[in-house]
Amino acid sequence: MSNYFQPEIETASVEDLKAIQSEKLVKQVKHVYENVKYYRDMMDEKGVTPDDIKSVDDLHKLPFLTKADLRDAYPYGLLGTNLKDCVRIQSTSGTTGRRVVAFYTQNDINLWEDCCARAIVAAGGTDGDVCQVAYGYGLFTGGAGLNGGSHKVGCLTLPMSSGNTERQIQFMQDLHSTIICCTPSYAAYIGETLKEMGLTPDDIDLKAGIFGAEPWTEEMRRDIEKSLGIKAYDIYGLTETSGPGVAFECEEQSGMHINEDHFLAEIIDPETGEVLPEGSKGELVFTSLDKEAFPLLRYRTRDICVLSRKKCSCGRTFIKMTKPMGRSDDMLIIRGVNVFPSQIETVLIKEGYTSNYLIEVDRERNTDTLDVYVELTPEQFSDTVKEISAREKTLANAMKIMLGINPKVHLVAPKTITRSEGKAVRVIDKRKLHD
Ligand code: ADP
Ligand code: ZN
Repeated sequence: MSNYFQPEIETASVEDLKAIQSEKLVKQVKHVYENVKYYRDMMDEKGVTPDDIKSVDDLHKLPFLTKADLRDAYPYGLLGTNLKDCVRIQSTSGTTGRRVVAFYTQNDINLWEDCCARAIVAAGGTDGDVCQVAYGYGLFTGGAGLNGGSHKVGCLTLPMSSGNTERQIQFMQDLHSTIICCTPSYAAYIGETLKEMGLTPDDIDLKAGIFGAEPWTEEMRRDIEKSLGIKAYDIYGLTETSGPGVAFECEEQSGMHINEDHFLAEIIDPETGEVLPEGSKGELVFTSLDKEAFPLLRYRTRDICVLSRKKCSCGRTFIKMTKPMGRSDDMLIIRGVNVFPSQIETVLIKEGYTSNYLIEVDRERNTDTLDVYVELTPEQFSDTVKEISAREKTLANAMKIMLGINPKVHLVAPKTITRSEGKAVRVIDKRKLHD
């Protein structure tokens, strides 16, 4: 078995890739201009015609598409084919507002599943594996995407969906699952449950996990790897681009390769829209090259990351993206300081806590307040009250150093923070309620 799902593409030279991309881009732009009024109007407004786009170097001439456009065009406004040619609908999780629906032709589904298959193979998956898919099934793209990818690789697929954690572990043991796919917060919960059931990683056969759909830190990766006895790989995607599998981690575990034969990536300055050079941190923008039913030109994801074409030891030539540290709209501005929930998570895990935490932001007498609720493990909970308040102080100090502002830390009893089976909700911003 090869280390790649499609070696001829995954390891193509950068020149060859660029040629493939350019050819597809020219076609895609024609396709949307002719078939989607929304795009035609946007391009006309910007004074661009399909003839202006001759290669990927002309990409910057095209207008951006934003989430607001998708909501505007809901539901059919961006359809690139007849509805009759569509075979599937999926929808965003609605984490940051009204849901967006995406349409797929059978060809779109095939390409999406290929992307997920590449991710599974990059995580060491083969047709000899048992792949337990514990992402939610349904409108959410996680379950459907990895399910399809697992079939393509030829793994024995366990379509568990999320939830019912003890049963997950029971099946994992009985059917000898070797790969698990779910959100990282759910993986952490499965690890915690395994321990509570009196089991250790030696009692299961898992070797790899493919985790995505939400931000997670390196610290959390190490925790999950230890609790389940696996290697944990990141996977990235969004409903608008089809779903998970737009980018995936290889054995190097140092950033995700973007499936560049299907998606053109750019990094822009989120304030000015200026395209930034490789290596700069900014907002990730995608142009789909093959999608038929729901084509995207320069879609602004609001995810903040860095791209790099540094040579990867796995042999893949696809450009790599760093873990998005969160969306531009996840960023909290507290007393004028930018705070990402992932920074708080990093401190917590470094200081020996779990990823069970909740951030609450509010405003009192015109000043922003930041409260961080952190769950204690049963061992930590047996400390005296004095010890616990000393811990709170230490933790608040460590956060102050990382964030530049003083949070109020509350250490709370085990099992008091709701566990996540899908995307974790870690921030409650009560300021919005007062506005
Ligand atoms: P919603 O936007 O409602 O959450 P999606 O389910 O389509 O809908 O989620 C896509 C978003 O999830 C991405 O834009 C990104 O913010 C986040 N995401 C997906 N995979 C990852 C990942 N591996 N790391 C960090 N964030 C991720
Ligand atoms: Zn690699």
